[in-house]
Amino acid sequence: MAVQGDIQVIAIEEHYLDAEVDGLMGDGHNPFRARLSDLSDVRIKEMDAAGIDIQVLSHCPPGAQAFGAEAGVALATAVNDRLAEFVKTKPDRFSAFATLPTPDAKASADELERCVKTHGFKGAMVHGLTELTFIDDKRFWPIFERAEALDVPIYVHPAPPHPTLVDIYLKDYAEEYPQILGPGWGFTMETATAGLRLVLSGVFKKYPKLKIILGHMGEGLPFLLWRINHTMTKMGAPGFEPLPFKEIFCEHFHVTTSGNFSDAALLCSVMEMGADRILFSVDWPYIENAPGTAWMEQVPLGREDRIKLLNGNARKLLKM
Ligand code: MN
Repeated sequence: MAVQGDIQVIAIEEHYLDAEVDGLMGDGHNPFRARLSDLSDVRIKEMDAAGIDIQVLSHCPPGAQAFGAEAGVALATAVNDRLAEFVKTKPDRFSAFATLPTPDAKASADELERCVKTHGFKGAMVHGLTELTFIDDKRFWPIFERAEALDVPIYVHPAPPHPTLVDIYLKDYAEEYPQILGPGWGFTMETATAGLRLVLSGVFKKYPKLKIILGHMGEGLPFLLWRINHTMTKMGAPGFEPLPFKEIFCEHFHVTTSGNFSDAALLCSVMEMGADRILFSVDWPYIENAPGTAWMEQVPLGREDRIKLLNGNARKLLKM
């Protein structure tokens, strides 16, 4: 495509909304609803205009995980099958992450395997808390066990933080700036905490080949790696086992540029994690495509690293 010259552009945090989930949510006021629901006209026009060759599609929050265990399992199957049908119509433009019925972790693991083996999906995306519980909880480890066995990543994506936290930390400013609960800060707190907790949980010791993706340039964690690492390695309870946080994070996590087109944040992430760990993404339709690809044209990286971000790292991680 024109914008990046001869460099193929793969974007991996690009959302859509399934019609059945839309009906269940009854969220007619969502200003992004029309574009999220669009799987052909607007989406492809905007991809073409911005020079995006491939979108790896994922259901927007909450996906299939907010409807209880029983209903969620059937819903996830139907949603993923519909997504697979669509991807099949344009396999050169689209790929997919599965949505999982996380309240039932065993069924989620089975659904992940079905989606990878039957539909060629590239992994799964989970959104924030499940039944107000973080994803590092041991009840969810069957998902990570299966992801490791299948050699596919789990994309840990934001959703609204715990309501108690919102009340204490943010509510008084939310009337004037409602998005402070979302991309303005709440999502970041939520998902950075999920990433931190995954490292603390020991899940990577149990599943040493497990791969996690965080969007939004790592939800702030790359910027804070030195300090978190210093704390976890040097400042525990008496007799504590030092936790090499930075080493674990850099070995098991990839981050994407979704919704965070900042040279400074990118360079920080490259310096802490290396260019092999960073993947281009937009976060469509919450964020526009064109500013993302225009930004990539001028990032302070050499051509080789730019190619890694725009397609090489995705090809490797997602086996595309
Ligand atoms: Mn997103």
